[in-house]
Amino acid sequence: MTVTDLGLPSLVRPTTPAPADGPLIDTYGRAATDLRVSLTDRCNLRCTYCMPAEGLDWMRGEELLTVEELTRLVRIAVTRLGITRVRFTGGEPLVAKRLEDIIAATAALAPRPEIALTTNGIGLDRRAAGLKQAGLDRINVSLDTVDRERFIHITRRDRLADVLAGLAAAHEAGLRPVKVNAVLDPTTGIDDAVALLRFCIEHDYQLRIIEQMPLDAGHAWSRGAALSADEILAALQQHFTLTPDPKPRGSAPAELWLVDGGPATVGVIASVSHAFCSACDRTRLTADGQVRSCLFSREETDLRGLMRSGADDDAVEAAWRAAMWAKPAGHGINDPDFVQPDRPMSAIGG
Ligand code: SAM
Ligand code: SF4
Repeated sequence: MTVTDLGLPSLVRPTTPAPADGPLIDTYGRAATDLRVSLTDRCNLRCTYCMPAEGLDWMRGEELLTVEELTRLVRIAVTRLGITRVRFTGGEPLVAKRLEDIIAATAALAPRPEIALTTNGIGLDRRAAGLKQAGLDRINVSLDTVDRERFIHITRRDRLADVLAGLAAAHEAGLRPVKVNAVLDPTTGIDDAVALLRFCIEHDYQLRIIEQMPLDAGHAWSRGAALSADEILAALQQHFTLTPDPKPRGSAPAELWLVDGGPATVGVIASVSHAFCSACDRTRLTADGQVRSCLFSREETDLRGLMRSGADDDAVEAAWRAAMWAKPAGHGINDPDFVQPDRPMSAIGG
């Protein structure tokens, strides 16, 4: 699916102002109910498809939202904008300050949103129970291979054992489902996918394989090199019987397959080859307080500046609504004039 499936070219600018209340909608009629909050751009891994080996020019302390600013924005999103699901991410959210406090503050909101975390799992073994206690409902742990040497090659760190311990602790803490997010290496990814699926079935984790997107800091992504969802599925089908999951997909990005008749499933997220922009229900907040209507936005709305200039909740709400009203039809990766955003994935929040 490309952006033209929405019947409009991308980047059509809205000519009327955003509605002052009701759902957080854009000019194409999509309502955002899922907020992704990046808590930091820092990370203790250096995944090749995300960060350069030397790391990045990290955001400075005063650039980051304070915990109070952040929880204020989450409150506005939930109580005024109709957000029903909040996912904390990064960078690595487990290295952000006061994650448990932020989760507890989010869990105290009415109506209480569903609260999820996307993490690389390092340190999760010690914190999973506390996170669950604070109000975390669901977790996605990123893991691209269960082979130690390949893990080192992909993440540039020897931390596979920590991630596996984190996954086990999340399961032990009762977080359900425990999902595993995998971005496959173009050369070894097919073998990795088969081993990962076996590992996930054995441990009662749900595997989600994500097509690699042009969001790497080095701008080295190339369409031909990355594995497509179709290639991944064809390879898995050599080892497993995959049948479409009959449950309705809704706005979920993953196309789900029952493995060997179920109940185990595997999901494939074809963000590039079969984009699902027409069903997108997301709004994004960066660690420095910028709203992005899309992962691939080239425009941002500065809520941190607005708050620090003394804006009240009405003004912040209006600015957020205006940002989302201008959401483009689609990410445009497949358009000839596509330009990768300046921010890498780690500074946006995946
Ligand atoms: N550090 C945490 C982690 O790795 O789960 C959270 C942040 S990370 C940016 C969130 C997700 O984005 C991870 O599942 C990661 O694999 C994915 N990701 C990062 N760069 C990507 C890219 N270029 N294409 C597709 N997914 C990517
Ligand atoms: Fe860190 Fe996550 Fe990016 Fe890997 S994908 S470098 S773990 S932020």
